[in-house]
Amino acid sequence: MNLLLKNLIACSCFFLISQTLALEFDVNTDQIIEANKNSNEWLTHGRTYSEQRYSSLNQINSDNIKNLNIEWFYDLDSSRGHEATPLVIDGIMFTTGAWSVVYANNAVTGELLWKYDPKVPREKAYYLCCDAVNRGVAAWQGKVFVGTLDGRLIALDAKDGSVVWETMTVDSFEAYSITGAPRVIKGKVIIGNGGAEFGVRGYVSAYDVNNGNMLWRFFTVPGNPENGFENAAMEMAAETWKGSEWWKFGGGGTVWDSMAYDPDLDILYIGTGNGSPWNYKVRSPGGGDNLFLSSIVALKPDTGDYVWHYQTTPGDNWDYTATQHIILADLEIDGKIRKVLMQAPKNGFFYVLDRTNGELLSAENYVKVTWASGIDKETGRPIKTNLGNYEKNAVLLFPGALGGHNWMPMSFNPDTGLVYIPAQELYMPFKKDENYNYDKKGWNTAVDFTVITPPKNLLQLSLLVRSVRGRLSAWDPVEQKEVWKQYLTLPWNGGILSTSGNLVFQGTSDGELVAYDASTGEQKWSKNLQTGIVAAPITYSINGKQYVTVVAGYGGVFALQAGLPPKYSGGPINARIVTFSLDGDIQLPQRPANINMPKPPPPNEDQASIARGEVLYHLECHVCHGAGAMGGGVISDLRYMTKETHEKFEAITLGGLYIEKGMVGFARRLNEQNAEDIHAYLIQRANETYFLETLNSALK
Ligand code: CA
Repeated sequence: MNLLLKNLIACSCFFLISQTLALEFDVNTDQIIEANKNSNEWLTHGRTYSEQRYSSLNQINSDNIKNLNIEWFYDLDSSRGHEATPLVIDGIMFTTGAWSVVYANNAVTGELLWKYDPKVPREKAYYLCCDAVNRGVAAWQGKVFVGTLDGRLIALDAKDGSVVWETMTVDSFEAYSITGAPRVIKGKVIIGNGGAEFGVRGYVSAYDVNNGNMLWRFFTVPGNPENGFENAAMEMAAETWKGSEWWKFGGGGTVWDSMAYDPDLDILYIGTGNGSPWNYKVRSPGGGDNLFLSSIVALKPDTGDYVWHYQTTPGDNWDYTATQHIILADLEIDGKIRKVLMQAPKNGFFYVLDRTNGELLSAENYVKVTWASGIDKETGRPIKTNLGNYEKNAVLLFPGALGGHNWMPMSFNPDTGLVYIPAQELYMPFKKDENYNYDKKGWNTAVDFTVITPPKNLLQLSLLVRSVRGRLSAWDPVEQKEVWKQYLTLPWNGGILSTSGNLVFQGTSDGELVAYDASTGEQKWSKNLQTGIVAAPITYSINGKQYVTVVAGYGGVFALQAGLPPKYSGGPINARIVTFSLDGDIQLPQRPANINMPKPPPPNEDQASIARGEVLYHLECHVCHGAGAMGGGVISDLRYMTKETHEKFEAITLGGLYIEKGMVGFARRLNEQNAEDIHAYLIQRANETYFLETLNSALK
C-alpha cells in the first residue's frame, strides 16, 4: 500500500474516532458513580471510586480461558518503569509509559491515535526513589489528566492530546515528583506527590478541571510551628512530633498513590507515606506518633477539610508507607452490613476499618511480621516488639522497606468475598547510619544501605535469592484469614484484576501473565510476555467482545535493585501494551538473543580501591543499577559495559554524558577518586561474572 493511501486511511479513521469522541466522550461524576453498572468501560484508576478493580464481565471465564490469546500489542518507547492502569472510554485506551508520556490507542485495534510527551528533564532521575514511573491518567468531560515526574499536572484534550492547561503543583527547588494517577471528583482533579526519601513535606491538592486553578491543599505533616499552622488538624499533628527541629527534615508523609471516594458519605480517602528521614530517632528524638505519617486520612473533597485518620504505623521507623491500595466495600460483619475500608500497607497487616469514622474493625498479618506482635483491638495500635529497633544493633526486619505488599493494586471480588493481595515475602537488614547528615536534595533515610551488599559467595547468594519470593494471597477480609495462596518465584509481581468470570489475573516479575480460578486458586492459563510485569490488568468490552489488557513492562525500585532472573540477561526490553481476546491469534516477535558479555578490562590490583568502590557503589548507585552491580533488567547492567563505555566512565558518572538516558552526573557528590574506586569495583564484578559465564558456556 502506498504511503499516501495509508495516511489517508489513518487520517479518516482518526477523523471518525475524533467525531465519536467529541460526541460521546463525557466522563462525569454520575458516570463514574455509576461505573459499577458500566463494565464495558474502565472510567477511573480503580475502575470505580471504590477502587475494587472487579469487573462483572464474564464472556472470558474459567471455562474458556484456555482460548485467550493476543488480539493486538503496541510497543512503547522505553524499557524503564511501567506501572500504569489504562482507562478505556468510548473505544479509546488512555495510558502512560515511562517519563510520564501519555498514549491514546484505539482499544479495538491498538492503533496509536496520539501521544503526548511532557518532556520531563532527565536530570529528574536523580530525585526519584523508585524509577521514572507513572501509574496512569484520569479523564473528565473531554479531558485527560496526567501528573508528571517533575511535579506538573497537565490537562490534555482527549481528541488530539493537545495541552488545555498545565500547572506546577510543587516547589521545583524541592525533590518532589508525581508518579500516581490523579482522580477527578465533582470537577476537581485530586493529586498528591512523592519524595519522602528526599526530605519533602507531603500534601494532596485539588485543582479545577476547567482551568487548573488550585482549590485546596491538605498537608499531611506539620511545618515549622513559628509560621503558624494551616488548620486545626496540623496543630493536632504537631503535638506528635518531638525533640529537635523536626520540621527541617521535611517530614515526609507523601500522598504518592492510593485514593478512594465514597459518594454517599462524600468522603475522599488518601493513604500517606513514610517519615523523612526513615530513622525515627533522628526525625523525632523526643518520641510521638508523628501524625499523619503512614496513615489513612479522610477528607471532604470540596474543601480538603480533615474528617478522621487512622495511623497504621505510629512512629514509622522503616519506610512503612500506608499509600498502598485502598478498597471500599460493604461487608457483613457479625450480622451487620458495615461500610468498610481495606488496606494491606507495607507493614504486613491487613486492616478493615469502618470508613464512616475510622474505627478499627480488625487487623491481622498477611505476611511474616517481626516489628509488631499484633494490633490491639481496643486502642487500634500496633503492639511493637524490640525486633524492629536498630538504634544500637542492625536487625533483619520482616517485612522489609519494600513491604509485604507495595503499590501494586489488589482486587476485591464480591462474588467470592475475597481480596487478592499481590504480597511478597521480602525482608531487609536495617542498620542506623552513624554518619547521617541532612542533605536537602539527597537521600534522607539515616539508614545504612551498605548492609544490603549481597554475599559474594555463590552458595550464599543462591540461598538469599531463594529465601525471598512473591505470594498471591486470596484473603477473606471478614474472617481475616488466607483462603488460598500461590507462591511466585520472585517478589515484586503485578497488580490484580478479578472478574465475575471467576478469574483472577496477575502478571509476574518473571514475565508471565497468569489467570487463576478466583475461588480455588488453581492456575487456569498463562502467557509469557517477555518482560517482567508489575502493572495491573484491566478488562473492557466493545461491540459485545471482551478484552483483557496489561501494560507489560518492568520497573520500580525492586526491579532496579534486584530484578530479573538470569534467563533475561539479554538486557532491557521495551514495554508493550498487550491486549487479549478469546479469538486473538497474534504472536509476539522473537525476543532479541541474549547479549554475549564483552570481555572486561583486567581487574584493578588496588584492593583498597575496590573495597572503597563497593561501599560508594552501594551508597550512590545500587538503587538504580542493582545490589552487587547485578542489573535488574530495566536499565543497563554495569557488568556488561563495553570497552567504549569503560573509556567514557568518568565522563558519564561525573560529567553527565548520558543525561538523556536519565543518568545524571554525580560531580556534586563524587570526586575523581570516588569515580575511580567505583569503576574498580565494577571491573572486579564484571571479571567475576565473565569468569562464570565463560565457565558456563564451556560446560554446555
Ligand atoms: Ca518510601
